[in-house]
Amino acid sequence: MARIGDLLARDRTFSFEFFPPKTDGAQLTLGRTIAELEPLGPSFVSVTYGAGGSTRDRTHDIVAWVRRETTITPMAHLTCQGHTRAEIVQILDNYRAAGIENILALGGDAPLADDAAGSSDYRYAAELVADVAAAEGFSIGVAAHPEIHPRSPDRAADRQRLAEKLEVADFAITQFFFEADHYLRLVDELAALGCTKPVVPGIMPVTNTGQVQRMASLSGAAFPTWLADRLLAASSPEDVRHVGVAAATDLCAELLDAGAPGLHFYTLNRSTATRQIYENLGLNPT
Ligand code: FAD
Repeated sequence: MARIGDLLARDRTFSFEFFPPKTDGAQLTLGRTIAELEPLGPSFVSVTYGAGGSTRDRTHDIVAWVRRETTITPMAHLTCQGHTRAEIVQILDNYRAAGIENILALGGDAPLADDAAGSSDYRYAAELVADVAAAEGFSIGVAAHPEIHPRSPDRAADRQRLAEKLEVADFAITQFFFEADHYLRLVDELAALGCTKPVVPGIMPVTNTGQVQRMASLSGAAFPTWLADRLLAASSPEDVRHVGVAAATDLCAELLDAGAPGLHFYTLNRSTATRQIYENLGLNPT
């Protein structure tokens, strides 16, 4: 196993993100997807953490399973809103016992209504980053938002908070976006603040237009007209996938050409689009 900060210091990383399935059938699909993606030799895979709580234990179980049963380095996502410090200490102890060395430390979106606020010792991801660093032994990633986090008052504040997180964390992974300029501008703005830690772009291949448009509006990512037009002109689900994979391939190529330190694919627990992009980019292991 490896620490992702060390991997990024050596070379580009190529990684895949999964979410914990809610049903036995979906669990089987995820097992198949991981088996199909393992031959691509990913640098690491990550598993999201359900802010609502219902799938939280599953994040641990899947990450520990990947660590035990595959050759892939896993990373656990962990959100802090709604948690006490004692709970976070326990979660980190459990990860350490399972041999997990990589944590993506996140704020999360748990409601901070009066009734929930009492049970949360955390408000911002930076506080979790500090606690994970104090626990020692973990490589720490954080979230970056190329098109600005929806709760940021302005661009400068967004970048300043991110740079502060990256003073302690080892790397960032971005929210998905569809045009390379959003990422390149983010990297330039961080550099202007003296922050040069690796920021890995998150890639969401569009395979289902409605689903991705919904996710984009929640995350604050702009869904460009040119992409929407091409997808609307597609005459079948297969055509939609073709357009989505072609657009993601072009974006990945542009990002790699511009010097991005890696690519992180939001797989939605499916392997086909990611495998096609790998092949288009000539990334398949020989
Ligand atoms: P923060 O860094 O806390 O930032 C949130 C907002 O608060 C920003 O606007 C920031 O500018 C502002 N802020 C930060 N510090 C301060 C301060 N001191 N004072 C005032 N304002 C401040 N969500 C999940 O629930 N589970 C997941 O597994 C998950 N995985 C993700 C993976 C990636 C790669 C990304 C990009 C996002 C992921 N998210 C996940 C979503 C994430 O939890 C939300 O976007 C959340 O709203 C913000 O998380 P953050 O870590 O950026 O929070």
